[in-house]
Amino acid sequence: MSNEHTSNWLEIDLSAVRHNTREVLRQTGVALMAVVKANAYGLGALPVSRAMLAGGATCLAVARGCEALELRRAGIQVPILVFGLPAEAELDALIAADVTLTLTGFEAAEMYAARGAVLGRQPRVHLKVDTGMGRFGVLADEALPLARCALEAGLDLEGIYTHFAMIDSDPRDPLNALQLERFRQALAALEAAAIRPLWVHTANSAAALGHPETHFNMVRAGSAMLGIRPFYYAPFPSYLKRVVAWKTRLVSCRELPAGWGVSYGQTYHTRADETIGVIAAGYADGFRRAGRNEVLVNGQRVQVVGRVCADNCMLRLPGPLPLGSEVVLLGQQGGQSIQIEDLAGRWNTAQSDVISAIAPRVERVYPT
Ligand SMILES: *Cc1c(COP(=O)(O)O)cnc(C)c1O
Repeated sequence: MSNEHTSNWLEIDLSAVRHNTREVLRQTGVALMAVVKANAYGLGALPVSRAMLAGGATCLAVARGCEALELRRAGIQVPILVFGLPAEAELDALIAADVTLTLTGFEAAEMYAARGAVLGRQPRVHLKVDTGMGRFGVLADEALPLARCALEAGLDLEGIYTHFAMIDSDPRDPLNALQLERFRQALAALEAAAIRPLWVHTANSAAALGHPETHFNMVRAGSAMLGIRPFYYAPFPSYLKRVVAWKTRLVSCRELPAGWGVSYGQTYHTRADETIGVIAAGYADGFRRAGRNEVLVNGQRVQVVGRVCADNCMLRLPGPLPLGSEVVLLGQQGGQSIQIEDLAGRWNTAQSDVISAIAPRVERVYPT
């Protein structure tokens, strides 16, 4: 192995990202804005963006201004939408780099227009409607006044969008239809005033793949292309591929006598003479001290025993194994698999949180 000395690492399959991107396009039949916020959920914004663009996405979206600027600096020239309200300090750089801004309200319109005038550029914006997320944007009945304000201020109103709060967890929740209805009201008000933004988008991965009525002329998806199960209520779709594996190695393997305590707090004691292994992954890598952790080694599922330490954790092994043996924290080995949804369940958190929170010190590897 070329990464023999790497303590723990992520293997990211970019050909699977390309495949998944093509599949999302095939399933939806509309334009695709690829969401690569938070360093593409930890998998590497630049390589993942390139793979998604190669797979047919036409534009990108990120959460923060600095993320967009990083992609621009790396030479990415397609449109990039920033979801959040940019800091005033980075606004000029964003407008100069032709980054698309989210129009969250009247103050934002004023601020964008003022900076655009100073720079002699016309800021490009997508108007955000808050249809039930309670995060960014204006309520549906303010969409038309805000659109008018934006146009009068000289902004390029290129898009309009909203975001679903329940659609990934419950496809039948009445809020889904209500959010769509509120968004249609906003669109109808704009239409009545002959304001027709070019791009209309509401669908994250779950909506894109499960709710065609949410498509309009663009979907805005991230997790499905990264091999994260798009729906909390249904299994991983057969037409998508898994993308990421998280691996480490056995760095110690010893026989410990019966009754020997393991790790901080001594929450585990060997029941008999046991083989206790140590792996080079811990909570400071994002492998959390929560739930009942298991890993795959030698094609078998083994238990993590005792508390997870910062840089390591201990395993109860069925018997001695060679040092350097590959251990899978996430992914497949032999016939066994541990998937992102398993870790999310174990750690009681969101699926994308599991991979987004894998620490920067964990090397990202892109096997070809
Ligand atoms: C994160 C995010 C998305 C993408 O969601 P996925 O479930 O990863 O497809 C889309 N829109 C907004 C506003 C987001 O914050």
